[in-house]
Amino acid sequence: MVCPTSALHERSYIDELQNALCNKDLTTVVQYSPAVSVSLAESFGLKPGKDVNGLIVAALHKIGFKYVFDTSFAADIAIMETAYEINERINSGNTTPLLSGNCPSWVRYLETFSPDLLPNLSTVKSPQQIMGAIVKSYFAKEINVNPNNIYSVSIMPCIANKSEAKRPEMTSRGINDVDVVLSTRELVRLIRLYGIDINNIEPQQPDTPFGVRSSAGKLYGASGGSTEGILRTLHFMRTGKDMATPKINELRSVTGVKEVSVKMGKETINVLVASGLTTIRDVLASIKSGSSYNYVEVMACSGGCVNGGGQPFGFAERDIKVRTKALYEIDEIEIVKNAHRNTQVHEVYQKYFENPGSEKAKKLFHVSYSKDK
Ligand code: SF4
Repeated sequence: MVCPTSALHERSYIDELQNALCNKDLTTVVQYSPAVSVSLAESFGLKPGKDVNGLIVAALHKIGFKYVFDTSFAADIAIMETAYEINERINSGNTTPLLSGNCPSWVRYLETFSPDLLPNLSTVKSPQQIMGAIVKSYFAKEINVNPNNIYSVSIMPCIANKSEAKRPEMTSRGINDVDVVLSTRELVRLIRLYGIDINNIEPQQPDTPFGVRSSAGKLYGASGGSTEGILRTLHFMRTGKDMATPKINELRSVTGVKEVSVKMGKETINVLVASGLTTIRDVLASIKSGSSYNYVEVMACSGGCVNGGGQPFGFAERDIKVRTKALYEIDEIEIVKNAHRNTQVHEVYQKYFENPGSEKAKKLFHVSYSKDK
């Protein structure tokens, strides 16, 4: 993002995608990350930070995707699974911190520089991979299509998600969860390539059965956002009640290291949130010196995915703040603020995955990393 000549750039999969869109034997499915809908407006002359969610869905349908899903739905599932994981650790008396596993760059960093901490890494897959796994299992069954004939695409603000999707751990019975990952930049190119005037199309809603998301899932786009969503659901799991004030101000600054302690019944849950690789050494040192955190969120990009390496070039630091603000405004006006209140999440568990942490959920939503890989 900082190189003035763009000397380093990602491999583009637009050609491969166009071939798949023309292949009548394939059912094309696309998901877009929570950060994408607030990061695209300025590329089309709209106000930076404007939420263009409905326009993205309409544009992707026009390009030719049969089904368009919001990854925020899968982020709701990630929240359910991670809250379950933390809850289990607390119940079993495990006092070591659980480290977030939803940023593939952070996972790679840990594998390379601190593999001794891999046992602390959450086993919950990133929302991209969870959505991919649901599409090729539950959804394939629902629409009665062989998973081999589903072409699953994701649009992410992230370059690391491209290599994440290619990891051997991210397959089930030899089938990739996600076939191709495009960056937000590639989405802008794709929309222009297909001659779509985004300012003159009717917004559409994501397709069913994953058309409903909570705003907790949407917060995954900002540093601290996923932890805020997880704490809301963990509070419900531990006390049977929703948090009286779901907004956690201590986690909402755009950059830097943030800490908060939240009372849940008799327990106090301590979390640490860090973003930007420059903060990571101190965070690791603090964990190794025996910290009292229950959960530590690390995102490699400063400010989280709104500032990801796959976002359009040339935006200013001000735009990152504007995008983050847009995510919090979505949370402000949303009625469903908790992943555990998402009715479609309940339906998916009821019909297929049973409960968070069930055998089926572990098989498709969880992954483990080892030092030897
Ligand atoms: Fe990708 Fe950056 Fe988000 Fe990590 S923080 S998932 S590297 S965009």
